[in-house]
Amino acid sequence: MSDLRRLGRYLLKFRLSLIVAVVSAVLASFFLGGAIGLIPDLVGALSESAVSVEQSGDAGRIADDRAPRETAAGPLGEVVDSLNERITEAWVPVRAWLLERGFVRVPLAIVFLYLLKGIFAFASVYSFRRVGLRAVVDLRSELYAKSLAQSDEFFRRYSTAEMLSRILSDVARLQRILGADIGQALQSVPIVIVLLGYSFYSAFEFAGVCMIAVPIFVFTAGRFGRRVRKASHRSQERSAEITSLVEETLMARRVVHAFGAVGQETRRFDQALRRMLHQDLKVARATAATPPVMEVLGAFLAGSLIVYAGLLIAAGRVDRANVFAVILALFVVFTHVRKLATLYTSVQQALASACRVFEILDEPVKVDDRPGALKIAGIKDGFEIRRVSFSYGRGPVLDDVSLTVRAGEVHALVGPSGSGKSTLAMLLPRFHDPTRGEVLLDGIDLREISLESLRAHIGLVTQEVHLFDDTIAANIAYGCPSADIDAIREAARAAHAEEFIDILPQGFDTRLGERGGQLSMGQRQRIAIARAFLKDAPILILDEPTSALDAASERAVQEALEALLVGRTAIVIAHRLFTVTRADRIHVLEAGRIIESGSHEDLLAAGRTYARLHALQSFGS
Ligand code: ADP
Ligand code: MG
Repeated sequence: MSDLRRLGRYLLKFRLSLIVAVVSAVLASFFLGGAIGLIPDLVGALSESAVSVEQSGDAGRIADDRAPRETAAGPLGEVVDSLNERITEAWVPVRAWLLERGFVRVPLAIVFLYLLKGIFAFASVYSFRRVGLRAVVDLRSELYAKSLAQSDEFFRRYSTAEMLSRILSDVARLQRILGADIGQALQSVPIVIVLLGYSFYSAFEFAGVCMIAVPIFVFTAGRFGRRVRKASHRSQERSAEITSLVEETLMARRVVHAFGAVGQETRRFDQALRRMLHQDLKVARATAATPPVMEVLGAFLAGSLIVYAGLLIAAGRVDRANVFAVILALFVVFTHVRKLATLYTSVQQALASACRVFEILDEPVKVDDRPGALKIAGIKDGFEIRRVSFSYGRGPVLDDVSLTVRAGEVHALVGPSGSGKSTLAMLLPRFHDPTRGEVLLDGIDLREISLESLRAHIGLVTQEVHLFDDTIAANIAYGCPSADIDAIREAARAAHAEEFIDILPQGFDTRLGERGGQLSMGQRQRIAIARAFLKDAPILILDEPTSALDAASERAVQEALEALLVGRTAIVIAHRLFTVTRADRIHVLEAGRIIESGSHEDLLAAGRTYARLHALQSFGS
């Protein structure tokens, strides 16, 4: 299906509003046509009035048709009577004047028609914008839901910045075009048709010759439009450049300060600003030049046409009043044709954006629920990784890995950086699915279990802690919005976090700011552990939770982790972690294969890789 038709489907969801918009636009154009159609009458009335004003000294004669009034009684009645008389005296000439003069009635009718046209134009523009805005809400929400559902594999192909630009800029552009530009076209098309019809009907030859002006007008308008568009496109790119520059340098401000690079960064920013200014000035020039150029051109064309009209009138081939109305009608037609001329490029832009949006919507969600996926409640036997291989696309990262973790056991993964430990652990919450082999929970392939219920059973603490710009309480209760403050406090206490939270100015209600900026690494990690306590999932994955910490915070965090592990089935990845030595079983990974497995004592006794790593007081990372 073409993108255009697909885009149309989003609009067609709001059929009723669309019908209102179209019908109102057509009605509005007929009322406009009617108003312009009255102009010959106005011209006629004006010429007559010049004669009739001179004649009408005695306007009172029309007042005689009024019925005789009943006289009110008493002295008050007399006052009322005299007042009435005065009003009548003043009113009669006005009334006569109104009734007699076409040059009053015709403008009144024109005002009335314009009023109707205005009401329907409003209804049309508003209805169509409403359709556009609602369609865009649907589209954006679909896009967001789709993006969030995607697994890691997707985000390796589409960066966050890329997604931001599609969800925000592309959709915004679609909104502008669907709501405003196409709405404008909806207005313009019937106006052009009605007024052209009128023009040809009342002065065929004259209107025909006037059509010569259309291509000249459209061409010139198109030239300017293209220039504005090109420059504004480049300016958009420059502005994106500036955004990412600001983000980058502000995030890295410590580095900037440490290397004394403030001046250098400021200069870099100034240069980017100047590049944008250059494009913006181009836009400004083209935009400022458009109206005067179009006006001069319009005046020239109008002048030529008036001369031509004069010749036609002199030759008696056309009525003077009609030509006047047709010139006016054609002026309106030209302004609308000019608006329509930009429609083509708007639609092209819309299609470009639609294509980028649909590309995301069409991405299959690789890790997703099968129809009729099982819901699990608790774990009984544990899980098994059975002959799993995995690749991110190039070489294999996991190669025929098998391991079984019985319920209640803690298994540790050790091995050099890049050996595949994280990749292996992240198979459990299905952040990716194995390329070959299977992962089973209580004997059921994970792909048969509903993602939501699977992930509800897994707690995860990794090296990176993601905190939201919200209160500490809300951060701990992330994913458990119904948790009360007592439960949150208890989780924080278990995670050894309560002590530092309580001395913060607002305690649990302290807002963390962007990325939890005001907390130390160790404190942030303890918030993450509190989160895991609150979630209280039976399976736990710890992926180097202490490796970013200094020795002092590591101790505090480690105590919290030991408490968290109690009574859970876990996979622990760590270096320098006491927990590893006490794990039920330790697996040594190297280049995606398990080369050694056993308890701490067994592996030390075997005297191979593990023993060597341990002797170095490090299990790699
Ligand atoms: P470990 O946790 O043991 O340090 P990882 O599982 O993170 O190792 O990585 C194993 C291998 O997979 C590494 O060679 C790494 O470069 C690669 N890798 C990890 N994550 C990705 C990813 N998102 N995309 C592509 N390659 C990846
Ligand atoms: Mg890792």
